[in-house]
Amino acid sequence: MYSNQWSVEDDAILIENGLQEKYDVCRWIDGNGMPCNQWVQDKDFSNHLRMHHGVGGAPSSQHRCRWEGCREREFNRDCLIRHLREQHLQWRWPCPHCSQDFTRKNTMFDHRDRNCPHRVV
Ligand SMILES: [Zn+2]
Ligand SMILES: [Zn+2]
Ligand SMILES: [Zn+2]
Repeated sequence: MYSNQWSVEDDAILIENGLQEKYDVCRWIDGNGMPCNQWVQDKDFSNHLRMHHGVGGAPSSQHRCRWEGCREREFNRDCLIRHLREQHLQWRWPCPHCSQDFTRKNTMFDHRDRNCPHRVV
């Protein structure tokens, strides 16, 4: 019998902690036109962008994503970090009940609660 005691929010925290621990190469294009190429732990990207690439200011301040190959519009700082995680750091949220995974945590929750073929009813 599958345990109903284990909440999926717990799963999500475990997944998120794991994602925060991984390292990715920063491909932000600097003033000289070359990518940064530093290894940065995912949880430090927000700091890294502020310290090394001038992405600072209020959470609502607008910044263009300068990741290599990215043609996105401007984001405010919070959205930029979310965009980085989804598009460039390849964060994925696996469904706890089946093998599908999702770019957004909320999409995974929706799937789990409504569409998952193995959902716990
Ligand atoms: Zn960088
Ligand atoms: Zn981008
Ligand atoms: Zn599923």
